[in-house]
Amino acid sequence: MKQMPNLEDYKKAYREFRWEDIEKELDWLGDGKLNIAYEAVDRHLKTSRKNKAAFVFEGKDGAKETYTFFELAKSSSRFANVLADLGAEKGDRVFVFLDRVPELYISVLGTLKIGAVIGPLFSAFGPDAVKDRLMDSEAKVLITSPRLKNKIEEIFNDLPDLEHIIIVNRDRENIELCDGEVSYEGEMAKAEDDFDIVKTSKEDYAVMHYTSGTTGKPKGVVHAHAAIKGHYATAKYVLDLHEDDIYWCTADPGWVTGTSYGIFGPWSNGVTQVIYEGGFNAKKWYSIIEAYRVTVWYTAPTAIRMLMRFGDKLPEKFDLSSLRHACSVGEPLNPEAVVWGEKVIGIPFHDNWWQTETGCILIANYPVQDIKPGSMGRPFPGISPAILDDGYRELPPGREGHLAIKPGWPSMFRTYWKKEDVYDSRFKNGWYITGDKAKMDEDGYFWFVGRADDVINTAGHLVGPFEVESALIEHPAVAEAGVIGKPDPIVMETIKAFVSLKEGFVPSEELKHEIQRFVKKKLSSAAYPREIEFLDTLPKTRSGKIMRRLLKARELGLPEGDTSTLER
Ligand code: AMP
Repeated sequence: MKQMPNLEDYKKAYREFRWEDIEKELDWLGDGKLNIAYEAVDRHLKTSRKNKAAFVFEGKDGAKETYTFFELAKSSSRFANVLADLGAEKGDRVFVFLDRVPELYISVLGTLKIGAVIGPLFSAFGPDAVKDRLMDSEAKVLITSPRLKNKIEEIFNDLPDLEHIIIVNRDRENIELCDGEVSYEGEMAKAEDDFDIVKTSKEDYAVMHYTSGTTGKPKGVVHAHAAIKGHYATAKYVLDLHEDDIYWCTADPGWVTGTSYGIFGPWSNGVTQVIYEGGFNAKKWYSIIEAYRVTVWYTAPTAIRMLMRFGDKLPEKFDLSSLRHACSVGEPLNPEAVVWGEKVIGIPFHDNWWQTETGCILIANYPVQDIKPGSMGRPFPGISPAILDDGYRELPPGREGHLAIKPGWPSMFRTYWKKEDVYDSRFKNGWYITGDKAKMDEDGYFWFVGRADDVINTAGHLVGPFEVESALIEHPAVAEAGVIGKPDPIVMETIKAFVSLKEGFVPSEELKHEIQRFVKKKLSSAAYPREIEFLDTLPKTRSGKIMRRLLKARELGLPEGDTSTLER
């Protein structure tokens, strides 16, 4: 049955929202201590939710598993014991490189229970992407599967801090464990299922996600246990999660949406989630909503546009009547997609905005307010965004500028790992500068304009051009590379690389494909250039920096702007 909120109660809740009240709704561990894993799972064992399903899992192969909150609490405590027996301690970095299988979720929670910092990695990553992250974070433990381990085998000699690899062998393959490797199943079978959760302070580091910038390799965005306040409150009021909801977040925990809203937000609200291991498939996605009677759905614009491409007739073949609320994040959601949702699946998509650094949703189209299609919505209570000029002064409504947020919200990132200077550089004139350009209208709705830097948003993945350029120039034929994002109607931007070749190499279609394969294998299927163009030389400043801005202007037929620094 559809559970329709009482709008008046809801409007009152928004009007009267106070972070102090949210703090009271959490279950603190005494002396101001707070642990995300406890908030998300173990605290439910004292309630009638103990035997409620925390998640129903469907594997790529059709395998189905259900875990109650009790089972999830016990398994993650077991895993906490496994980590503790291996010598992992509070503050250590533990990374998980798995597909969306139950062991991924158990690993995340178990790591948090020992007070260590969890870093989830996309299973689509190649060896370079994984190595950069494990090396930078000085990770001590990696949890992975035989298939994914094989993919990155070449990196292990370069990681002196990595002491243990825990192998999750769901398919019970016949494998030999090497030095430093242990079997997940073997260790779990031996471990106790009771664990005294480490009483972390709200400021202790909990979660790390790497994000791309314009320069340098991806940076580790660090969140503290206090972030659970933001996850809990926004899952409740923006995703509109209620006790009886069946919730499906299509994001992978390798991206912050898949942890904040695929693990912590919904479970701290005691809600049952659907976890589907497979990737995008229009028919399958509709059938999941139908089969599990999904009521709240959180997805992304690229996926919605891909569903739209499959047409209006396909959804008619499925019973999608269980859906009550749908949200979208990660890229601008075009107005047609909002309207399409209403017409074809019966409810509009509610766009919302946030980023890895903000930890939780900060701007949103709420269930109780009118959607302005094409807008990201209005600020969450207690959040103060503004539009600033280049001198970081507030601009009036209607003017385009830097989207900035007043610092201090609970789930704000605490640092970039070992890059305190870069962290500090994100704050100007008392504001956190998001790196996005936007404008605000007279009604307080925010409208996305674009990125203020060269970071590329392709299908919701932020890709730093520097990371792709670094991979490109490792190819023996490549002398120089410049990478830009090119507008695309489905995935927002595709990656295009301009490449000059070393002496002795001749441009050819075959070489293009070889370079593409090379980068795809190193980084990931999301971060390789769909298009490569060979140039004799790349435009550079006199100090030798490749002028991506100029490459982009030329590619798109836009004015070239100021070229006074161009090397001639
Ligand atoms: P990430 O940190 O990878 O989650 O990416 C955050 C970035 O994605 C933001 O800074 C924006 O550039 C973009 N983004 C996220 N949500 C939206 C949205 N609703 N509309 C437009 N862009 C968005």
